[in-house]
Amino acid sequence: VKTPLGEFELIARLCANLPASRRTILGPGDDCAILAPARSRQLATIDSMVDGVHFKLAWGTPELLGARALEVNLSDIAAMGGVATACLVNLAIRPGLDARFFDRLYAGLRKAATAAGVDIVGGNITRADQLAITIALLGELRAGVLLRSSARPGDTIYVTGTVGDAGLGWRILDGRLKASGAARKYLVDRFLRPTARLAAGQKLARMRPAPAAIDLSDGLWQDLGHILECSRVGAEIDAAAIPLSPAYRAVAGDDPESALGTGEDYELLFCARTRLPAAALSRRLGVPVHAIGRIVKGRRAVVLNGQSGRSRPAPRLKGWDQLRARD
Ligand SMILES: [Mg+2]
Repeated sequence: VKTPLGEFELIARLCANLPASRRTILGPGDDCAILAPARSRQLATIDSMVDGVHFKLAWGTPELLGARALEVNLSDIAAMGGVATACLVNLAIRPGLDARFFDRLYAGLRKAATAAGVDIVGGNITRADQLAITIALLGELRAGVLLRSSARPGDTIYVTGTVGDAGLGWRILDGRLKASGAARKYLVDRFLRPTARLAAGQKLARMRPAPAAIDLSDGLWQDLGHILECSRVGAEIDAAAIPLSPAYRAVAGDDPESALGTGEDYELLFCARTRLPAAALSRRLGVPVHAIGRIVKGRRAVVLNGQSGRSRPAPRLKGWDQLRARD
């Protein structure tokens, strides 16, 4: 019989030996953590991952879950062009999960935090019906800032990496899409093991003028929509230019519609006035970059059909709604 650990006991166990940088004056253990004054303007963000809404426990290991919970938060810091510094973790834990599970979850979390240079400065545990991991993350702006509101007509719209992979991975894990072999593994990993584009975001923030940017969490169409709304502009997207991975093409063909509508890729979409070709930009940012369209006047967003050059309104592009996606 497993004896459930008390909440204080569990938090003490999870917070033992957390690595901390010099900016953490006092880590977990008192009523609050104490942080040294920031060197520059600070960023603050928070995000939750809830079992049954954002993931299912059976889909991955506890280590992957812990790492992913931090990575999706890091992606928001990346989308501002910042450096991540410290985080606080709230675990909502349900009966049936033992201390070993949380040790493993924290092992994944700690590894991701160390890789990103983030101190875990505090934690809290609450009892709940569902497992949920909520992380509040702090960061700093060391250069310029990437805002959603700074896109201008004439800007080129770029994305890093490929899009649509994680959405297909999600459907595969959920049993709603069939795939096998290397393509299946690639797409599932793109969902389970996202990597925030922190370095690319920081390099973008050094460009002048600083590009408008957002991370792709809800789907290209919806996330682009946030930029258009905040910047009061429109966009033309070239359907044929949307970067699709070989695995995506193997499973879903060459139609980018799924890539436009599904989220969780945690790539960056940015709008820049640069005249650099995508290949040069890729070298500068250290990540593959593709130009997928341009910012235009007016408030209309269209997807241009590569073959005919005729524009069509984007079909069924409501973006990624995780709650609806569960149906
Ligand atoms: Mg975001």
